[in-house]
Amino acid sequence: MSTLYITHDSFLEHDTGEWHPERADRVRAIDRVLSGETFQNLHRVEAPRATREQIVRVHDRPYFDFVERAQPTRELIPLDDGDTIMSPKSWEAALRSAGAGIQAVDEVMQGLAANAFCLVRPPGHHAEAGKACGFCLFNNAAIAALHAQAAHGAERVAVVDFDVHHGNGTQSMFWARPDCFYASTHQMPLFPGSGSIAERGEKGNIVNAPLRAGDGGEQFREAFESVILPALRRHAPDLIVVSAGFDAHRSDPLANINLVEEDYNWVTRKLIDVARERCGGRLVSLLEGGYDLTALSRSVGVHVQALLEAS
Ligand SMILES: [Zn+2]
Repeated sequence: MSTLYITHDSFLEHDTGEWHPERADRVRAIDRVLSGETFQNLHRVEAPRATREQIVRVHDRPYFDFVERAQPTRELIPLDDGDTIMSPKSWEAALRSAGAGIQAVDEVMQGLAANAFCLVRPPGHHAEAGKACGFCLFNNAAIAALHAQAAHGAERVAVVDFDVHHGNGTQSMFWARPDCFYASTHQMPLFPGSGSIAERGEKGNIVNAPLRAGDGGEQFREAFESVILPALRRHAPDLIVVSAGFDAHRSDPLANINLVEEDYNWVTRKLIDVARERCGGRLVSLLEGGYDLTALSRSVGVHVQALLEAS
């Protein structure tokens, strides 16, 4: 079977302004790596648009309508305090960013592909049910996970998030859904401020393993080995969705964790192991953050290489 590489040119046209770290060059840098000879066996697919119905499984309907109406015709507009920007092409990109996860879930759940990597922007894990946040418009990972339940009969789903920021949006969407598991490593204290160990969800379905500024691969692996992976195994998901942010890399300008490419290789293989044990290898990975273009593209390279070798 194959590994899907799902992306779309509209992600290059989501314009966040000249100095914004979450910029189109991120997609260009990653695509350059994934277009190399090492990755010629990837099965490249265009991201479709997610539908309103698929998005409002996790977002409030008035919020969906607000974002649609906010779409500017010329200028850039902020949706929150200034971090989360909409440009004339952002609505299209946001629909396809969510749609990439939908397409990945459709193919992986039907056994048409082994696993998938979605090269998307805007990212998703900070977006809350009724609020844009932290560069994110729609919560791509939560939309994908709930689509697996609604369209493919998955009973239990899991989102594992190794972005350096806590996925406050995903956590709050899953808080009262015991069939939806969310686990995260992230630097704390750091934006958005949530993600303490004490935040566990209504039924213990949330697992936070915060790291401290200056921590590196050793602490990251310990958090996965002793906390996240055992809890993920106990949840026994029918699908694992990965919120794959690469801003815990030591070269990243937005945080202070010292991971290197080999740590991303390690964590990807560990998640593949659990996916094989618990759900036939079904794993869908979605890009979140990562802002140093070299570190980001190399880290995605080892992540996708591991997915390919497992397919
Ligand atoms: Zn991040």
